[in-house]
Amino acid sequence: MRGSESAKVVIVGGAIMGSFAAWALRREGFAGAITVIEKDPTYRLCSTALSAASIRTQFGTPANIGMSLYGVDLFRRIREVFGADADIGFTERGYLILGRPDEIEERRAAAAMQCTAGADIVAMGPDEILARFPWVSVEDIGIGTYGQSGEGWFDAWSLLSLVRGAAKAMGVRYVAGEVTGFDAAGGRIAAVRLADGGTLECDWCVIAAGPASGALAGLLGQPLPVTPRKRTVFAFKAPLDGAGVPMLFDTTGVWMRPEGEGFIGGIQPPPDQDPDATGDFEPHHDLLEELFWPALAMRVPAMEQLRLLRAWAGHYEMNDLDHNGIVGPHDEIANLLFTTGFSGHGVMHAPAAARAIAELIVHGRFTTLDLSSLGYQRIRSGTPLAESIVY
Ligand SMILES: Cc1cc2nc3c(=O)[nH]c(=O)nc-3n(C[C@H](O)[C@H](O)[C@H](O)COP(=O)(O)OP(=O)(O)OC[C@H]3O[C@@H](n4cnc5c(N)ncnc54)[C@H](O)[C@@H]3O)c2cc1C
Repeated sequence: MRGSESAKVVIVGGAIMGSFAAWALRREGFAGAITVIEKDPTYRLCSTALSAASIRTQFGTPANIGMSLYGVDLFRRIREVFGADADIGFTERGYLILGRPDEIEERRAAAAMQCTAGADIVAMGPDEILARFPWVSVEDIGIGTYGQSGEGWFDAWSLLSLVRGAAKAMGVRYVAGEVTGFDAAGGRIAAVRLADGGTLECDWCVIAAGPASGALAGLLGQPLPVTPRKRTVFAFKAPLDGAGVPMLFDTTGVWMRPEGEGFIGGIQPPPDQDPDATGDFEPHHDLLEELFWPALAMRVPAMEQLRLLRAWAGHYEMNDLDHNGIVGPHDEIANLLFTTGFSGHGVMHAPAAARAIAELIVHGRFTTLDLSSLGYQRIRSGTPLAESIVY
């Protein structure tokens, strides 16, 4: 049934994960029906549209690095893959991730591991950082690691539009509707149920519902620790030329990068101010004065004169177990697959996660990058995947 024309795949969620999964299935040779069900075809509030749309290869696990390398290769070849007019505004420029003096050894080892896995990361001492980025204050800094290639940022909305258009051109059907239930029996999902009373039969059901994925699995009585957590992005101007400025991650957790004529940046809220954010898209304005601005101005003195342009908030699809993606089949419901829970790195990993889902459906196994470490089994057993570099 795997590749046959009578097989039916239903994908719940049509943003970056769902649309890439549909596209990748066709590219992998799946000939059956593919239906993507999307409850908000404007995509106004989905994580994808509200993200900072950046890509890094500086991760602590080979699976995450491998997914980034696949993503960056696709972004570099975007016209070759999606056509001569394709443009996602990919700026290939590194992340500069700063570390304290007590982190030097650990961070050097991480950079060496990343290079072994195929990334292009250099570790720098404070003087080298200052020579290259003279606008950074390095007084309390022991190390900085920088992606010399293979990292950067892009336009997530353009990427979503491209892949959705390409999927539709390959016969993927998009249905506007909300999945509100499942017909499941005998360890299989037979159909998904929609809010308007309709049902759609399926041979495979892929959950790509972003921050709503945990609640959807809950409808099946299955644990999936993925919940919406609000993250605010500030857009601002400052007397600093953005040319050559990298994606900067400070030891405080503050991040910033150039965007258009100015910059964007943010910081995670303290854990006691980070509840389930279902329905809440109000930017966390207090963070600007209380945490973000003071820490940023300490690190980049030019930011003393920061002028806020606007702020928005989106939802991380937070995997509370280990902040990593959940990719692959459920352990008891064999035709239920997940591609969700990426907790802040889902746009960059969507192409690779989608390819993995397509391989599992078409071939019954991973044929390129082995993503079994991201599988559902660890959720069931409560065994976190150790990833040292999470934001
Ligand atoms: C502020 C911020 C900054 C970020 N920065 C980065 C970054 O720099 N790099 C990076 O890679 N990632 C980043 N991320 C994370 C990234 O945005 C997400 O990991 C990614 O967009 C997840 O994509 P998704 O398709 O799974 O989820 P979404 O984009 O949220 O899409 C899920 C879709 O499912 C639909 N849906 C939900 N429930 C149902 C239902 N019951 N029926 C039908 N449809 C349903 C929704 O309407 C939605 O369109 C950031 C996120 C935020 C919020």
